[in-house]
Amino acid sequence: MEAKRIVDLAQTLIRFQNTNPERVNRCADYCADWLREAGLDTRVYEHRGLKSVVASVGSGSPTIVLNGHLDVVPAQPELFEPRLENGKLYGRGSYDMLGAVACMMLLMQDLAQTPPDCTVVLCLVPDEESGGELGTGFLVEQGWLGDIAICGEPTNLDIAIQSKGILQIVVEVAGIAAHGSRPWLGRNAILEAQEHYLTIASLHFFHEESPFLGKASLNLAKIEAGKAFNQVPDQCKMGIDIRYLPDQDPELLLEAIRKAVPSAEVKVHFQGTPVNTDPDNVWVSKLRKHSGTLFFGQEGSADTRFYAERGMPAVEFGPSGANHHGPGEYADVQSLCEYKSILKQFITHVKDEGHEV
Ligand SMILES: [Zn+2]
Repeated sequence: MEAKRIVDLAQTLIRFQNTNPERVNRCADYCADWLREAGLDTRVYEHRGLKSVVASVGSGSPTIVLNGHLDVVPAQPELFEPRLENGKLYGRGSYDMLGAVACMMLLMQDLAQTPPDCTVVLCLVPDEESGGELGTGFLVEQGWLGDIAICGEPTNLDIAIQSKGILQIVVEVAGIAAHGSRPWLGRNAILEAQEHYLTIASLHFFHEESPFLGKASLNLAKIEAGKAFNQVPDQCKMGIDIRYLPDQDPELLLEAIRKAVPSAEVKVHFQGTPVNTDPDNVWVSKLRKHSGTLFFGQEGSADTRFYAERGMPAVEFGPSGANHHGPGEYADVQSLCEYKSILKQFITHVKDEGHEV
């Protein structure tokens, strides 16, 4: 029975406890052996100590890339002993995203029996929860691209076509030190930084809206300042995490910030490309016809950004569940079955004329 196959494999993957490189690598080796045994052309890459697995089947265009990350965030030990209850598979990674990975692997096994009229590439990667550079970032550099990438992130069977860009900045403010008993003789860098933060937050970029994502956001994530109670601080460093809308230009945003706080030094800590996939793209709209679900935008960033950076349509599409990254994470077993079946229908009918399904 289909549900049992999916649940069994997802449980095996969850038990690997993929919270550190050694465990993720062990799981990657297991997946590679499993895929080879299923008759798939399979390759294991190792990049800076982390393994990625690529398996492919079929030939000709389009090339559909299925992408799943094997790493999970830490959890209490009981979440690594998966359990099935009322149609829900509980366990760390069941929802984000080893349940989806199990569906993708089993789908590849089916496709090895009946090769599709297109190329399907499965990329199983590490490092997504830490930024993705060493997994999907690396595979994209190796040329593993295609006509559409589907990342199996938890989306409740809806399709995320957008995600916000990341601009993390450090704002350095210099003040003038003085004795704490005579603050009027100095210039307090912490107070000045606070004003700068409010000035940045009031920029028009943070008031613009997009239909899928609402507004851009900023989070004052770090403050480093102050050495002694009896001293006016002459240095303050703020770390601000900005998530901008796909249509906003990070260069213009940075320029506006520098102009708004000319006395401070603004440095870029990290930048991540937004995802802005065209909903009318032929493969994206075909996937949607088969899923029958909604398009939406994600606040957070995922491995889709590496494909988007190269101009490739990328979506997040995964099963239903709840509590990813939290206690009580689960995936809905029925939705796992649906998920696999939607992907299969999409791949099998990808070349059909028109959009009828
Ligand atoms: Zn994820």
